[in-house]
Amino acid sequence: MPLKTKEQYIESLRKLNLKVYMFGKPVDNVVDHPIIRPSLNSVAMTYELAQMPEYEDLMTATSNLTGEKVNRFAHLHQSTDDLIKKVKMQRLLGQKTASCFQRCVGMDAFNAIFSSTFELDKACGTNYHENFKKFLLYVQENDLTVDGAMTDPKGDRGLSPSNQVDGDLFLRVVERRPDGVVVRGAKCHQTGMLNSHEVVVMPTIALTPKDKEWAISFAIPTDTEGIIHIYGRQSCDTRKLEPGADIDLGNAEFGGQETLTIFDNVFVPNERIFLNGETDFAGMIVERFAGYHRQSYGGCKVGVGDVLIGAAAVAADYNGAHKASHVKDKLIEMTHLNETLYSCGIACSAMGTKTESGNYYIDNLLANVCKQNVTRFPYEICRLAEDIAGGIMVTMPSEADFKDETVGPYIEKYLRGVNSVSTENRMRILRLIENLCLGTAAVGYRTESMHGAGSPQAQRIMIARQGNLAAKKKIAKKIAKIEE
Ligand code: SF4
Ligand code: FE
Repeated sequence: MPLKTKEQYIESLRKLNLKVYMFGKPVDNVVDHPIIRPSLNSVAMTYELAQMPEYEDLMTATSNLTGEKVNRFAHLHQSTDDLIKKVKMQRLLGQKTASCFQRCVGMDAFNAIFSSTFELDKACGTNYHENFKKFLLYVQENDLTVDGAMTDPKGDRGLSPSNQVDGDLFLRVVERRPDGVVVRGAKCHQTGMLNSHEVVVMPTIALTPKDKEWAISFAIPTDTEGIIHIYGRQSCDTRKLEPGADIDLGNAEFGGQETLTIFDNVFVPNERIFLNGETDFAGMIVERFAGYHRQSYGGCKVGVGDVLIGAAAVAADYNGAHKASHVKDKLIEMTHLNETLYSCGIACSAMGTKTESGNYYIDNLLANVCKQNVTRFPYEICRLAEDIAGGIMVTMPSEADFKDETVGPYIEKYLRGVNSVSTENRMRILRLIENLCLGTAAVGYRTESMHGAGSPQAQRIMIARQGNLAAKKKIAKKIAKIEE
């Protein structure tokens, strides 16, 4: 099948039989649920843009497996140019949705597992690379969205998986059968899980030989028997349930999604397994996936940042403050921070190298520097946007009051900024800033910037490992003419 249209994607999701819970109740119609639908719309944008000639170069690529055109989200990067286009595509989608569009985790998992299984098979004589290639062919031919599941609940952070009181706190193999394995455990904050056809599961940390049953990686459909998805709450999420909600949402059409997904004795067939007991290689998969996802943030967060900077500038216009030099300077600072993130995303891509398996991997040090900046700059960009927007962003009355016959006219009169702009438009832009800085999209733009793709300390460990301090000391001593 060629590329799916947006409509075909949405219809394909209707065929899934997902077991989903939200607010203590099962969800029957996942696709049309008002809280879930905006996140689906964001993923659908990855299909819609791929059909548009002006975005073809960014949104699609030629598969090295089939020679056919595929969505870039299902592609194995074949060059540094591919890595750069990936970041540009993510910035574009961030601009179009002002939210997390979720499909990147699968793409990053594909590229990490492709190269890792190649090296694993070479070292251990296993057949995981072929298993994975077959799976990816299926994904490409059907233009599927795939969730990448890494983060285990982890229980006591001071204990390894095999030392936990409850071993299920890291997803593990609980039974081995001739035709496959049975797994049990959970994966936390699963981005886009309900908008995905399949899920690729990976270990969450490097493992020791004692942790054999936790060294497991595989792919299965998201509606496999035994999988239960529990929907994550987002701040302001129930605003979407209010009848006719529009202005108050800030971004009515798009959003992100996270789930806590339970694997309650789930069967995985042999042909879908990519790692099974080879503890030495768990760390490689984790590091490569994290590296790619840290690169990803140099694209997606920048695109969302573009929307926030634009919204702050519009708010300044509507407040009549756009000519104030300090407002101009704040917008410059926001732009500087945002473009610094983009520079990191592009740099780690441009400096990428070919793996043994043939696909391209980012410069890992620069990708970690990218993500370390992402843990900080969006917070500062939000701070400046809130500074420009003013306190009314969080104290103004609701849309229902604005539309009320009695109090609406007062709001119309007293919340007006410059006379040429309607009060409604002023409220709309302020609600968008609220949505991004502390509403539903803040999940993706703020806290996910901190913890997604690994929390700040994880990047500092990688930076320490790759910073090559010994070489730096040597060059300093040479310049200072110190001989030892
Ligand atoms: Fe993609 Fe960014 Fe969402 Fe990760 S946080 S899935 S990189 S949009
Ligand atoms: Fe993420």
